[in-house]
Amino acid sequence: MTPPAEPRATPDSTGPEDTTPGHPAAGAAPADGPPAGCLEASCPGGGGCLGAARTGTVCAGSGCPGSDGTGTGRPAAARRPGTGCGEAGRPAGEGSVGGGPAGSGTECPCAACGATGDGAETPEGDAAIEGFATTGLVGPWATAGDGTGGAAGLTGDDRELLVRLLRLPTAGPLEGGDGDRTNRLCEAQLAYAEHAAAFGMRVVRHAPAVRADVERGPVPAVVRAALDRPEFLADQPNLVLRLGPDGVPGARTVMFNVHLDTVAGEQPVSFDGARFHGRGAIDAKGPAVALLAGIRSARARRPAIGRDVGVLVQAVAGEEGGAMGVFGTRPLVQAGYTGRLNVFCEPTGGRFLARCTASMTARVVVEGTDAIDDRPGEGHNASVLLGFLAQWLGHALDPYAARAAVCVAGLRTGARHNKVYGSGALSLNLAYSSMDAGRRMEREVEAALHGGLDAFAARFADTMLFARTAADAHAITRLEWLKRGLPVLDDRHAWGHALLQRAGIPSWPPDEPAFTCDAIWMSQIPGTCTVVLGPGDLAANNAHADGEFADAADLAAFADAVSRLLIAFTDDSNGAP
Ligand SMILES: [Zn+2]
Ligand SMILES: [Zn+2]
Repeated sequence: MTPPAEPRATPDSTGPEDTTPGHPAAGAAPADGPPAGCLEASCPGGGGCLGAARTGTVCAGSGCPGSDGTGTGRPAAARRPGTGCGEAGRPAGEGSVGGGPAGSGTECPCAACGATGDGAETPEGDAAIEGFATTGLVGPWATAGDGTGGAAGLTGDDRELLVRLLRLPTAGPLEGGDGDRTNRLCEAQLAYAEHAAAFGMRVVRHAPAVRADVERGPVPAVVRAALDRPEFLADQPNLVLRLGPDGVPGARTVMFNVHLDTVAGEQPVSFDGARFHGRGAIDAKGPAVALLAGIRSARARRPAIGRDVGVLVQAVAGEEGGAMGVFGTRPLVQAGYTGRLNVFCEPTGGRFLARCTASMTARVVVEGTDAIDDRPGEGHNASVLLGFLAQWLGHALDPYAARAAVCVAGLRTGARHNKVYGSGALSLNLAYSSMDAGRRMEREVEAALHGGLDAFAARFADTMLFARTAADAHAITRLEWLKRGLPVLDDRHAWGHALLQRAGIPSWPPDEPAFTCDAIWMSQIPGTCTVVLGPGDLAANNAHADGEFADAADLAAFADAVSRLLIAFTDDSNGAP
């Protein structure tokens, strides 16, 4: 979903140095597992900056070439030989495929990692996270979530991974502005892949989309403009993990999709034992980590999972920023990384949503002649014309508001007080729930604009100030579509919906409005069931806003739902529990 981004928040650059009794000082290993250490071969600690120089799994050794020397470090996983993005040779992730920059199989797919090799800092300091790694496991799943067969839950390692992901800025360049290369998505994906490898998931693809694949369908104008920058795709790879052999057919496969990119606006990262705060906590890094916990738990309870039932996880870029998945989810779906059941992890309050709207963006552009304030009637007045059209279109499109979101958005001419602006633009964003409704609304916008221009011409023809604008209104105004023609999801797969119900997952109420997400790209894949399912609520959890959070209890409940769903799918596929 893409509510408007909140004003940027400055990263909380340090966080309090934690010296509270009972909390480990920076440098203590996490209480729930052996220290991972820095595996950098040239590390002066002999391949292991263990002990005082470490915080958690983050190498902070001042002499370690893998460290930035400030103690903030980077995740050890990102430097681990064999998982890619190590400084030496930057080996590609295992099984890296695809025709992009990773096609050679020897290079890290991601240009961003090269950029981080210079010691770019995380936005957070390395202070111990409040309440984190103090007792290892906190909460009601402290004993259940060990992956050995109890109810799914988050382990200390899961929590540590989530905090690590929250600390890595992964807002894409469409969010951060032209030329922004602070995105560390590739590192986040490597940490995620390494975590999944612990219970047998393999990397089957870790590469950015290639341009030809992106251009195989409708492309939003913002993406089209950005494609000319070579680093744009390279900085935003996609990751696909698989559990089970390659030969497991799609009919016996469940695919999960989750996006690891976020909207812009870093937020202070914390975990207090019950609640995670940070950009992406609910949308969608928290759900991403819980997803792995759920798969791990299901696998422990049904050995057939990973043997004759396959699980795919797409951990994608390009969901936010208006990209609509065209260089993330869409090429992966088109490459066949799908299953009979496909679950897109976005906050739905634990209910499965089988329909997704899509949106189109229109821009009314006026290109006329400016005038000085001494002779205001001599030019075209785009402010008055666009202001009139904004009201006219708002009124004309209001009847659609009952069915889908109609957003009469930004209007821009200029800011000066002593100038008549001859040019400007007005943007409209319009959601629709069926392709037919979308095409109808497109025609409606065109007709309404025409009617508005006629009305303006008639009303202002005899004025002193605006007669020229009225006479030329049609000639200086045009409608541009920045985005249109995207599909919607309207899944009616009875088998899949019954399976979800059997797994104890309720359906989204029919009268509650749906939202848009990458699941729209599954609408064109026949014979598959696709739903959106995730913990929390976009609005209540402050997704895209200040104070974004995810409750550990909600994440654990989602992990449990994933586990139940996989078990139900496996029993359904195998004919028996
Ligand atoms: Zn979002
Ligand atoms: Zn999302």
